[in-house]
Amino acid sequence: MGSRAEQREGARQLAARLDADGVGNIALTWVDNAGIARAKAVPARRLTAVVERGVGMSPVFDVFTSDDAIAASDHLGGPDGDLRLFPDLERLTTLAAQPGWAWAPVDRYDQLGQPHPACQRLFARRMADRAAAAGLDLRMGFETEWVLARAPQGPAADADALDYPCVGPAYGMARVVELSDYLRDVTEALLVQGVDVLQIHPEYAAGQFEVSTAPHDPVRAADEVVLVRETIRAVSARHGLRASFAPSVVAGEVGNGAHLHLSLRRDGASLHRAAGADGALAPDAASFLAGVLDALPALLAISCPSPASYLRLLPSHWAGVYQCWGVENREAALRLVTGAPDDPDGGHAEVKTFDAAANPYLAVGAVIAAGLHGIDTGARLPAPQTGDPGILGVRERARRGIVRLPATLTEATDRFEKSTPLREALGEVLHGAVLAVRRAEEAHFAEWEPAQIAAATRWRW
Ligand code: GLU
Ligand code: MG
Repeated sequence: MGSRAEQREGARQLAARLDADGVGNIALTWVDNAGIARAKAVPARRLTAVVERGVGMSPVFDVFTSDDAIAASDHLGGPDGDLRLFPDLERLTTLAAQPGWAWAPVDRYDQLGQPHPACQRLFARRMADRAAAAGLDLRMGFETEWVLARAPQGPAADADALDYPCVGPAYGMARVVELSDYLRDVTEALLVQGVDVLQIHPEYAAGQFEVSTAPHDPVRAADEVVLVRETIRAVSARHGLRASFAPSVVAGEVGNGAHLHLSLRRDGASLHRAAGADGALAPDAASFLAGVLDALPALLAISCPSPASYLRLLPSHWAGVYQCWGVENREAALRLVTGAPDDPDGGHAEVKTFDAAANPYLAVGAVIAAGLHGIDTGARLPAPQTGDPGILGVRERARRGIVRLPATLTEATDRFEKSTPLREALGEVLHGAVLAVRRAEEAHFAEWEPAQIAAATRWRW
C-alpha cells in the first residue's frame, strides 16, 4: 500500500474510471461468523471519502446468526460502538451481472484505526503472513457447488416443492444442454470479472452444479469465493432462477460442499512432488497436513458451522466424514490430489469438510493456523487410507485407527472451544464471537427435524 496521498489519488482516479464506465454503486462486503456475506453499498463518487475515513458499521454483526438473530459473547453483542470498513481497492471488481455495480471486500478497523480483533479478513491475512514468514508459499481455492430452483421459491418445508430448472441426470450432458445459456452466462460473467474458471459442470444432486477456479494466495482465494457465489446468484436471478449454496438443500441427499484445495511451495518448488515420500509429500507439507488432519474435529466448527452442515456430513456422500487421509481417496476428509503427472504444480491437497456456510476468511486462516501448528510440533501423518471407510465395519475402522469426525455442531463446538492452537490464532475476541454464534445456532435448532432445518436454511447462503 502506498502513502495516504497516493491512496487518495488512486481512489480519485478509480472513481473517475467507474463513473466513465457507468458504475454508480459499490457493494462493500464482509462475511459474518455465520458465513453470510453482508453488505453496505456506497455511491462510487464517494470513493475517496470512503478510502480516507471508511464506512461506519456496528460490531454487533460479529454475533449475528444465520437467521439474523443476535447472540452475545463476553466481548461483543450490545448496541454500543462503531467500526470503520475499508475496501480493498486491489480487489474492486465491476460486476458483470449487476449493471452499474462494483464490489469490493473490506477490512474492519476500530475508531482509533486499530485492526478490529474480530475482523475475519485481517485474521486470514495475519495467518497468511505467518506462513510467508515461515518461508511457505501457500495457494488456496474453494470449489463452489450450488443447487438451482426456479424463483419465486419460498422457504417451503416440503423439499418436494422445489422446482428444478433441469431434469437431466447427475453429471449429465443433458443438464448442460438444458441450461446452456445460463451456464455460458455464469462462465462469461466470472471470466469478465477476472475469475480464472477451471471447470464448470453438473453435479450429483438434483439441480446441482459446480465451478472450480484457479488457486490464489489465501486472502484472495477467500475474496474470490465470495465474488463467485454472488456472481452465480446474480446470473441466476437474471435467468429467473434461485441459487442455493446451503450445506443441505434436501435433508438426506448429497449436499453442497465448498471443498478447500491448497498447495504448499518453498523457494519456488512444490512440496507435493517429493520422490519416494508417502503421497509425494516433502516433510514440511506432511507436517502441515498432519496438523490440519489432527485439528479437523475442532476445525469443523469453522468449516461446517451450521446445524444444517451436519445434514450434509453423511458417510458415503463424498463429504469426508472420517478423520483420515488418502491419495485420491474421495471419502477421506483429506484427499491428496496428484494432478497431471507432467504438471510441476499439479499436486495439492483437498479438505472436503468445508461447506459454503463456512466464513471463507476464517476457513483459510484456521487451516493455516492448524497447518503451522503441525509444522511447529513436527506432526506426522498416519498411514493413508484407500476405499470408503463408511462401508467398513466398526471393528475394521477401529483396527485401522479411523475415527468419525463430530456428527453434530455441539460436538464440533466443544472441540473448538478446547482447541488451544485455534484459540491462540483467532484471539479471544474472535474465538469468543464464533463460539457465541455456534452456541446460539445449536440452541435455536435443537428440537428441529432435519427436513425443517434444511428448509429454514436452504436460501440463507
Ligand atoms: N457434493 C459433495 C459434498 O457435499 C462433493 C462432491 C464432490 O466430490 O465434488 O461435499
Ligand atoms: Mg463437487
